[in-house]
Amino acid sequence: MIEITSVEEFKTYKSTSGYFIITDTTGRKLHSNRCTFVDLKHFSEKVIGNESKNGKYFFTDDFFEAREYPKVKKCEACRRLL
Ligand SMILES: [Zn+2]
Repeated sequence: MIEITSVEEFKTYKSTSGYFIITDTTGRKLHSNRCTFVDLKHFSEKVIGNESKNGKYFFTDDFFEAREYPKVKKCEACRRLL
């Protein structure tokens, strides 16, 4: 699993088949790369604008590794894609 820290990385992994974990003050969510919540604007606000203080983005192409992330929950919006 890798942490995504730049817009270029975000764009690369968004277009790669796999799984995003987005952490923030409300919890840790597991998303498909195709989920509408995996969004460049939100990424830019959280990670670039707010310097990851309240949220981080991770990517893995391994579903089981994603599921093993501590306290992660499946996103309600994209769980049919997971
Ligand atoms: Zn989602």
